[in-house]
Amino acid sequence: IIAPVQVPTAFGGTDQCMLMTFHDLTPLRRAEEMRADFVANASHELRTPLAALSGFIDTLLGPARDDPKARARFLGIMQAQATRMARLIDDLLSLSRVELTAHVRPEAHIDLAPLIKQVADGLESLARDRQVAIELDLPDSPAMIAGDREELLRVFENLIENALKYGASGGRVAVSVVAASVADGGSEYRVAVRDFGPGIAPEHLPRLTERFYRVDVGDSRSQGGTGLGLSLVKHIVNRHRGRLLIESVLRKGATFTVCFPPVKS
Ligand code: ADP
Repeated sequence: IIAPVQVPTAFGGTDQCMLMTFHDLTPLRRAEEMRADFVANASHELRTPLAALSGFIDTLLGPARDDPKARARFLGIMQAQATRMARLIDDLLSLSRVELTAHVRPEAHIDLAPLIKQVADGLESLARDRQVAIELDLPDSPAMIAGDREELLRVFENLIENALKYGASGGRVAVSVVAASVADGGSEYRVAVRDFGPGIAPEHLPRLTERFYRVDVGDSRSQGGTGLGLSLVKHIVNRHRGRLLIESVLRKGATFTVCFPPVKS
């Protein structure tokens, strides 16, 4: 930016000078690029089920018109694709809502143990389908944090559902809540979701919370995934001033730990 300014001189008058200020636009450009990438990725992800739907509509109007068996099969696939689109739109909206409120700290007092029990109960039927046992290790005394109930439900639903989907071969998922001391003399609550499945290779770990990042896109799609779950988890945890830690050993499983400061009384 260049602007003329009047500068006082040593003799009491003023001189006209040109003032030049330089702004580093790199972070702005980067944010712009990330936004453009996100829009491109989101459009691509939405276009995939849409293309499948429109292909099946053509087939139903054409070659499969008088074939009731094919019709029933194609309608089933179309229903799955429509569900996929709806889930994607849901996740995109949740992500943008969390981003918009990132600076506001949620304040409701929430006890973590019953919340996690509620999530585990809700996922019982998926666990049965996958033949996985959900083992809970919850404290008897309240583990209170300041939070947003719906967002916290979303965090633990995502983490436990991922453990059930991707770590099913391990046969069990362990969820624990513990109070732990931290370096500054304070304490925090740590919720760990651990599975004993195939785990995640180290090169993927730093990128898992990126939007649309998936270790295996085909695997994620077949599990009904959108690639937005962990990104949403990270944003919600940040808004709660918490931390998300991801550890994994290949063929031994993965542990996702969320740490929250306790509520200030
Ligand atoms: P998705 O909707 O694909 O499940 P997420 O953001 O929740 O998206 O997870 C991103 C990717 O991380 C998944 O596609 C999967 O490849 C990997 N992942 C997540 N949780 C686990 C886990 N417990 N074990 C192995 N891989 C996992």
